[in-house]
Amino acid sequence: MVEVKEINVEEISRRHAVEIKLIDRATIRVEDWVRMKCQFGCGGYGARLTCPPYSPTPDQTRRIIKDYKNALLIHSRNSRKIKEAVPEIERELFLKGFYKAWGMGAGPCRYCHECDIEAGCRFPRKARPAMEACGIDVFATVRLNGFPIEVLTSRTQEQNHYGLILFE
Ligand code: SF4
Repeated sequence: MVEVKEINVEEISRRHAVEIKLIDRATIRVEDWVRMKCQFGCGGYGARLTCPPYSPTPDQTRRIIKDYKNALLIHSRNSRKIKEAVPEIERELFLKGFYKAWGMGAGPCRYCHECDIEAGCRFPRKARPAMEACGIDVFATVRLNGFPIEVLTSRTQEQNHYGLILFE
């Protein structure tokens, strides 16, 4: 069993071409209002198995976070990079012996053109709920950890996307 201090964050970051930081789980902010932003204001509500109402509620997320000692915050300018890197790094941690590793990504799942809610997920190894779909205040959480994020008013502005992997 490998120890957390033996995890080479720089090496994982390089290999996946993302920025990664080992963070204190106490800095992960979960708020009830985040769910309301999904339910009232997002056209994707109920359209994907990785989104509310199927994703963990804020209360579940608060409890889940308490089940873990460690968290990796993952940053990229590209949301697709986060979607790819999160399940891959989660699996790497699992294979090292961190059998509880579980990750959240960024934005709605895009692996299928349409999500078949009744049939179940077609790509369960890759599809993960977004941090915000689990009730995490992404803005507060990443700022507390020194990462950039701003409300954008144009698609031409620089984007910052985040994922989170819980493990111990
Ligand atoms: S991989 Fe496909 S089926 Fe699974 S959540 Fe994403 S869109 Fe839905």
